[in-house]
Amino acid sequence: MTDSFAVRGACLHTPAPDRVEAWPDALIEVHAGTIAAVHPDAPAGVSAAYEASGQLVHLAPRQMLLPGLVDLHIHAPQFPNLGTALDLPLEQWLQDYTFPLEARFADAAYAAGVYEDLVGTLLANGTTTAVYFATIHLPATQKLAETCLRRGQRAFVGRVAMDHPDSCPAFYRDESADAAVAQTRALIDHVRALPGNAGLVRPIITPRFIPACTDELLHALGALAAEAGCHVQTHCSESDWEHGHVLSRCGCSDTEALHRFGLLTANGVLAHGNFLGDADLARIRSAGAGVAHCPLSNAYFADAAFPLRAALEKGVRVGLGTDIAGGAHPSLLDSARMAVTASRMLETGVDPAVAAAARGRPGSRIGTSEAFWLATAGGAEVLDQQTGLFRPGYAFDALLLDPANPDSNLRLDPAEPAARRLERIVHTAGRPDIAAVWVGGRKVHGRVGNASERGG
Ligand SMILES: [Zn+2]
Repeated sequence: MTDSFAVRGACLHTPAPDRVEAWPDALIEVHAGTIAAVHPDAPAGVSAAYEASGQLVHLAPRQMLLPGLVDLHIHAPQFPNLGTALDLPLEQWLQDYTFPLEARFADAAYAAGVYEDLVGTLLANGTTTAVYFATIHLPATQKLAETCLRRGQRAFVGRVAMDHPDSCPAFYRDESADAAVAQTRALIDHVRALPGNAGLVRPIITPRFIPACTDELLHALGALAAEAGCHVQTHCSESDWEHGHVLSRCGCSDTEALHRFGLLTANGVLAHGNFLGDADLARIRSAGAGVAHCPLSNAYFADAAFPLRAALEKGVRVGLGTDIAGGAHPSLLDSARMAVTASRMLETGVDPAVAAAARGRPGSRIGTSEAFWLATAGGAEVLDQQTGLFRPGYAFDALLLDPANPDSNLRLDPAEPAARRLERIVHTAGRPDIAAVWVGGRKVHGRVGNASERGG
């Protein structure tokens, strides 16, 4: 079978938040992009058969296979601002930096260049599934979807809807609710009809957030989500300003308002969620929606740390987002380590002038295995995608770590327990360590040459 191959070597994944599973010499069989079998101890005969037909990727002794990373929250058009424009509060940041940049995507040629760079950068960082906000521009958003499909990144692509004249500048907003819905519908149809797209790239309904949208638009998008059977993404209870804006306009929390508009849906992605109360968390859980936790951008724009441990204990689905470019790093591993750090700072508190006993929120910390689970299986669960784990029936979305490369900061000792090695990976691995990346069995980045080249 020309679309079959196998990978043999050290593999590690996190089948549960507190469970690290590592195999020193496993064999993973891949048929048509999907994991057909996982052998924790590589059977010599099976391995030899793949090798004889040139369809075996045999990892070097220090290399390790990990599941691909699932980034639940990326603003694709903000990529040109990565690493800058972090000095203003959210409401002013939008007006001064973000809306003027996003308005430039009226130029589809400019958009094509930015999106090519972005998708390549994210794949090189191991992001195999990406959930994107684009802009209000249909041609540019179509370019993003086409770029993901051509480069082989699993993606959810949203054309941003925003029509409220009080919150959105005249140079960058939908001319009406009807126009926004029509353009959203056109994007859905375009993405679903892309030649060769068998579900790798999907449309996602994307009201920017309640402050940017009229009630008429929000109701209409809720109806469209039900009609079209699409995922939905938006921002939810992100900062004091945003949360307060919705409370005063709608008389309820973001979560309750989204529910009334028909926008709190199964597998919907709510970005941030820092100010979610207990009733909100219960409602999100019962709806089957999830939170995109963006710990780095929260430190700059949210005025608070997301109570991640509390959300997980209430059974809410959570994954991680870089929130490019409110988050200044493209690597989801960076978000994973920041999630650990933010949880520790929430637990202890941060103001030394406050007595230790009153400074923090006890019991808030998460560990590195939980952070890695959020970055892989947790994010996949939010989206209801079978990826993020090495399990039969799951898509073969994976990255190959190679700490032997001369630019690596990563020091892995095979004699250490798996949890210790994962701790080192989460805290010190980065783009130089990622030698190859596969999505749905297709090699989409890297320098490993052999059977994996063909893929799907
Ligand atoms: Zn965002």
